Amino acid sequence: MTTIAFIGLGNMGNPMASNLVKAGHSVNGFDLVPENLTVAKEHGVTIMANASAAVKDADVVITMLPAGKHVLSVYEDIAPKAKNGALFIDSSTIDVESARKAHGVAAKHGLKSIDAPVSGGTGGATAGTLTFMAGGSDEAFAGAEPILKSMAGRIVHCGGDGAGQAAKICNNMILGISMIGVAEAFVLAEKLGLSHQALFDVASTSSGQCWSLTTYCPVPGPVPTSPANRDYKPGFAAALMLKDLKLSQEAALGAGAVTPLGAEAAQIYALFNAQGHGGADFSGIINFLSGNPT
Ligand code: NAD
Repeated sequence: MTTIAFIGLGNMGNPMASNLVKAGHSVNGFDLVPENLTVAKEHGVTIMANASAAVKDADVVITMLPAGKHVLSVYEDIAPKAKNGALFIDSSTIDVESARKAHGVAAKHGLKSIDAPVSGGTGGATAGTLTFMAGGSDEAFAGAEPILKSMAGRIVHCGGDGAGQAAKICNNMILGISMIGVAEAFVLAEKLGLSHQALFDVASTSSGQCWSLTTYCPVPGPVPTSPANRDYKPGFAAALMLKDLKLSQEAALGAGAVTPLGAEAAQIYALFNAQGHGGADFSGIINFLSGNPT
């Protein structure tokens, strides 16, 4: 059993913390939202008065926060109060630069740290099947792996500090672009009088095959579990897709990478969000492209 502090008990953090409790760990939790604390308590998390109290006796500190600025401000607050030799794991999706700064804050206080963003959404968080993409030293990763296992389907050590966040935004840039591509193909197929099922049957076993088509098909019917069959209820919200695409474009600008399709995908999702669809699943972009936003 390990004593774990869990800071950020929102849509993802709460089910993740619950799986740590189920695995037999002692979890001290904190969030700014009282309702989230109530849910966490029901899952066996010990609620603490603030983040500093949560980390005081913890061997491992996990953060699951909205953005880089939140992670950095929480790290500045708690790193000086953490136990000697504690391991910090940040699973939020944040920009690579902030992730590297957060590693720096931890190191300044003699703490080990990894960035370990996740893929798999709230479903994966609840089922304990998240994919973790980790960045940090071999030593920090070795300490984190047994803890991550109770929340994970797969864990990949991607490289040094910030490599987990780099993998996450590259993956989600592929996802944003590929979803728009698949959606455009269905819109064109419709105009050409081709049925959704016919396009699916061909493309899913041809060179157009990809996850956005075969697992997350943006039209109702061919893949019964996709959000298109439940009126585009997320799933993975368009607002989060826009967040990740923006992170990819900030990173591309900083690194001097040429990503014109990533930039275009960010613009298309920005328009979709601006029209009030940020809460819809990101596959709902098909309705925007067909000119029939729901
Ligand atoms: P969320 O908004 O539901 O949860 C974030 C929580 O952090 C909130 O409960 C908020 O009150 C808390 N918080 C903010 N500042 C705090 C502070 N200073 N101290 C304590 N708590 C604080 O968001 P989420 O959906 O759980 O996502 C968390 C992270 O995971 C984000 O970075 C997101 O991009 C990423 N992510 C989300 C999904 C998803 O499907 N929801 C999937 C993969 C990755």
